[in-house]
Amino acid sequence: MGILGNKNNPDKWKDKYFDLLDDNEDLEKTNKTKEDLLCKTIVRLSLATTGLNKQLDPHLIRIRKQLKKGLKSEQLKLELERFSNAILRLEETVDDGSLPDASLLFEFLFHHFPEQKKNLQYIEANYEKKKYANSQYLVIAINDLIDNIQHIEPITQLSETLDLLPVDTELLNTKLQHLLEDTEIPAKFESQAAALRSKLIDKAPVSSVLDETITLLFQIKKHLQTEQLEMAIFLEQLTDQLTILGVTASGVKSITESSATKRNLLDESVSSQMLELRSSSNSATQLDPLKQLINSRLENIAEQIKKQRTLEELERKKTSQELNLLTTKITAMEQESSQLASKLKSAHEKAIHDPLTNLPNRLAFDERYSIEIARWKRYKSPLSILIWDIDLFKSINDTFGHKAGDKTLILIAKLLSKYCRDTDFVSRFGGEEFTMLLSNTNAEQALETANNIREIIKKTAFNSNGKKISITISCGITQLTKADKGDSAFNRADKALYIAKNNGRNQCSVL
Ligand code: GH3
Ligand code: MG
Ligand code: MG
Repeated sequence: MGILGNKNNPDKWKDKYFDLLDDNEDLEKTNKTKEDLLCKTIVRLSLATTGLNKQLDPHLIRIRKQLKKGLKSEQLKLELERFSNAILRLEETVDDGSLPDASLLFEFLFHHFPEQKKNLQYIEANYEKKKYANSQYLVIAINDLIDNIQHIEPITQLSETLDLLPVDTELLNTKLQHLLEDTEIPAKFESQAAALRSKLIDKAPVSSVLDETITLLFQIKKHLQTEQLEMAIFLEQLTDQLTILGVTASGVKSITESSATKRNLLDESVSSQMLELRSSSNSATQLDPLKQLINSRLENIAEQIKKQRTLEELERKKTSQELNLLTTKITAMEQESSQLASKLKSAHEKAIHDPLTNLPNRLAFDERYSIEIARWKRYKSPLSILIWDIDLFKSINDTFGHKAGDKTLILIAKLLSKYCRDTDFVSRFGGEEFTMLLSNTNAEQALETANNIREIIKKTAFNSNGKKISITISCGITQLTKADKGDSAFNRADKALYIAKNNGRNQCSVL
C-alpha cells in the first residue's frame, strides 16, 4: 500500500525526506547533549577525585584540559589509558593504612557548595579522625549530602556514559570486586552480592555489573539507614525498659540492713550490665546481634532481680513473723501494765479509803488538805477545817457492843456526807473522829453548818436490837489565816474540839 500510495502521491517522498532530515537533526542534537553531559560528568568526576591521590592528580588535570577540546580527541583517549595504567600501578602498591589526602576534594566541594560548608567541614573532620572505615564510607557521606542538593545532576546513567569511554574494563572489574570485598554486606544481601561477585569473576559486561553494583550499594545504604532508624527506635524502647527495670529494681524498699547490702550489690550489678549494654549499643553496627546481646543481658538482669525479690520475700516473711511475735508480746505487756495500773489504782483507792464507812481516810485527808491549801493560797477564798468527835463513844461500845458501835460509825459517816456540800471534803480521820474541809467558807459559816449537822445527829434515832441509843457529837472549827504554817491550823481546830468537849460536849467551838 505504501508503494502505491507513493506512486499516487509523489510529494510523500519529499515529506519523508524532510522528516528524515529533521530526525537526523534531532539525533545530532541529542548526541550533542549526551556529549555535553558526558564531558560535564567526567569533569566533575575528575574534580571530585582530584586530591585523593597525588599520583593521579596530574592525569586528572590533563583529562580536564583535553575535555575542553571535545570528546573525540585522540589525545583524550591516550590520557584515559595513561590514567588507567596509573590506577593499576597504584593498585600494586601496598596500602600503608594512611589516609589519602582529600584536602583538594574538600576545597572543590567548599567552592561549589558554599551553603553546605559546615556539613562538609564536619565530614572532613570525621574523615581525618578516621571515623570512616574506608573511603567508601566517605563517598557515601558526601553522597548523602549531595543527595539533598537538588541542582546537582543525577549520575545514574554512569554506566551508559562509561560505555562510550575507552575505559579499562578489567581494571573496573577488579575495582568493583574490591569494593564489594570492602563493603560490609548485611545477611539480607549476601546472595545478591555473591551473584554479583560471580558475575564479576566471569567478566560480565561492565555496564550491567556497574549498574547492579551501584543499585546494590544504594540498597545496602538504604537498608543501613532503615536499620539505623530501627536501632534508634529500639534503643529508645530499650532505654524506657531499662528505666522501668531500674525503678523496679530500686523501688522495693529494703527492710533490713542485710537486705540493703544485697540490694546495693544488685544495683551495682544491674548498673554495670546497663553500662555494658550502652557501650555495646553505641558500638553496634547491626541490629540483630545487638538485639540478641541485649535480650540475653536483660534476661540476666531480670533473673537477678527475681532472685533478689525471692530473698527479700523470705526476709520480709521472717521480719513479719518477728514483728508479729513482738506485737503479741507488746500487747501482753500492755494488758499486764493496764492490769497493774488498775490494780494500782484500786490499791490506791483502798489505801485512801476507810473500809468500814467507805469515807476517805486520813491519808486521803492529807492529800486533799495540801490541794485545798494551794487553792486557798491562789484564790484567797476562805477555807475552814472541822474536826468531829463522837461523844462518849466508848460507852456505846461498852453498852451495846462493838458491832453497834460500827453501825453507829457508818450512820454518822453518812449523815456527815449528806449534810455538807459536794465541794466539801469529809473523811474518817481515825477511830470515832471525822474531819471536814469546807472550801470558800469562813469560820462563821462553818459554825452554822456544823451546828446544823450536830443538831441533825442529835435528833437521829439510833437503835440497837430495838434499844434506842442517843448520840451526840462535838466539833472544833477554825479558818485558815495568812499566819498559818504547817499543821498550825489543824492543831487549832483540835484545840477548839478539846474546848467543846471540856465545855460539856454536844457543841461546836471556833478558834
Ligand atoms: P469523849 O467524848 O471524850 O470523846 O469520850 P469517848 O469515849 O468517845 O472517847 P475515848 O477516846 O475514850 O473512846 C473512844 C472509843 O472509840 C474507844 C474505842 O473503843 C472506840 N472506837 C474507836 N474505833 C472504833 C471502831 O472502829 N469501832 C468501834 N465499834 N469502836 C471504835
Ligand atoms: Mg476520840
Ligand atoms: Mg470520842
